[in-house]
Amino acid sequence: MRIPTARYITENDIKMVTLKVITKKKYDATYKGKLYCPTDNCSARVSFSSGRKAHFKTWRLSNHSSDCMYHLDRTGTRTVFGFENSIKVNISNKRKQDALVRAFQSMTQSETVTSEEGQKNNNEKKNISPKKDGKEKAKNIQLKLFGGEVEEAEIDIKGKKLLSKFVDIIGPTDIGQVRLIKGYVKDIELMDSVAEIIVGYQSEDIKIVFEERFKKEPLNKSYLDKFWSIKKYLSIKKVVVFNGVGEIREDRMGRYELSVSLGSDIRFNGEDLYNIARSMMVAGVSR
Ligand SMILES: [Zn+2]
Repeated sequence: MRIPTARYITENDIKMVTLKVITKKKYDATYKGKLYCPTDNCSARVSFSSGRKAHFKTWRLSNHSSDCMYHLDRTGTRTVFGFENSIKVNISNKRKQDALVRAFQSMTQSETVTSEEGQKNNNEKKNISPKKDGKEKAKNIQLKLFGGEVEEAEIDIKGKKLLSKFVDIIGPTDIGQVRLIKGYVKDIELMDSVAEIIVGYQSEDIKIVFEERFKKEPLNKSYLDKFWSIKKYLSIKKVVVFNGVGEIREDRMGRYELSVSLGSDIRFNGEDLYNIARSMMVAGVSR
């Protein structure tokens, strides 16, 4: 199976190398022997084949981890899972749900803890400006999350790691990767049966997108045509925490977006979209 991207690993850097940027010359000069499978925790080495249909291929003596989507490469059998299904295959649903709960707790709890600490230190008169206090708070959270926080509660699940990041620290190495994103809902635009949601943190934004494959997924049926409730929810609550698992992409303008594949992979103030829509309908709120 042809591999479209490779991870370039040096002592202090990891970056994704796509077929668009690599040439035989660059490969020989820089990348040879340092390219690995793009799957997060897979240590299989790959090489570059130039030519009309250039691609990365698994090294002759290298093996993919058993849950890597390129695992079946060896036998020459095509894996039945396409790229769009890799999220579901690579990270179990329970793992994602647990991580989403922890992400929401970490965002709401660290603020409580910090404001208690702030009260204790009130006599220092250093943090009395609410603006400064907010900055300090954010800095603490950022320090704690520098480079992302690794969710590793269930290491028995084949050591799969789900990196969680605030919107403002998403970087080029996240492109093509599955990440848990944390931030606040800033805006939502309804589109057909789904929506585009702008989530921000500090001064950075990311667009959350729900593509055709989201609409076609049978598991998502109960989430389609429910996004209006988030718009209402935002106008009522004003502050809505977003936590969601998806794949980080770069759009044509070079801005990051998060493509979500399952409705159960996103939470608003820790709540499931379906539950929010249902309680609104029960309360008589409608679109
Ligand atoms: Zn692999």
